[in-house]
Amino acid sequence: METETFDISHVRLGDRPLIVCDVDDVVLQFIDPFQRFLLSEGHELLPRSFHLHGNIVSKDGVALEVIHVSRLIETFFERQEEWQLPLSRATETLGRLSATADIVFLTAMPPVYADQRRRLLDRFSLPYPLLATRQPKGPVVKALHGVRPLPVAFIDDMAVNLHSVREHVDNCLLLHLMPVSEIHRFAPAAMHDIQRIHDWNEAASLIGRHFTEADAARSLTAANSTA
Ligand SMILES: [Mg+2]
Repeated sequence: METETFDISHVRLGDRPLIVCDVDDVVLQFIDPFQRFLLSEGHELLPRSFHLHGNIVSKDGVALEVIHVSRLIETFFERQEEWQLPLSRATETLGRLSATADIVFLTAMPPVYADQRRRLLDRFSLPYPLLATRQPKGPVVKALHGVRPLPVAFIDDMAVNLHSVREHVDNCLLLHLMPVSEIHRFAPAAMHDIQRIHDWNEAASLIGRHFTEADAARSLTAANSTA
């Protein structure tokens, strides 16, 4: 695996709950604008499996070479400010949640496009810290949250990322927020104890409930230890 310099020291967390949130297809639309971008380049995504490589074809129906697909994905990220918009209710919901919790964006996009993404998130009033890395997400969330006795939630559209966080961070609320799209019909399911949700309203109510329950459990532990 390629090594990346990866620094999380600019992320300062308060003494409050933490919400770590993927970006593509969770906060910003990805698959829809990416398909429109492909059409503008004379290509098309034929969703036959949960992969971009092998499923993007040129006008004559021939699948593009791996290197060509990789270049298209990079060009899309480079030009993301022309294409990507927030998911419905993402901005408002995160704004509300940020009154009582820290929010950190953790995106698997190549870090070289972090400036474009930062500008795009800021444009949509999503000013929360951004970490861009292709490293597994579980160890990153663990490094952020450590052993703080505070509630933590993680939201992603990819089962593999949810499983990574499940493996590394105890008692983390895991939410599988996945768009409805042709290609997502082929997406691997997450483990049975990971909740599948459909929109940001559902995310907000489950996060609210998790934080309330975690607070109640902490108060109980504190009361028992002083009794
Ligand atoms: Mg994603």
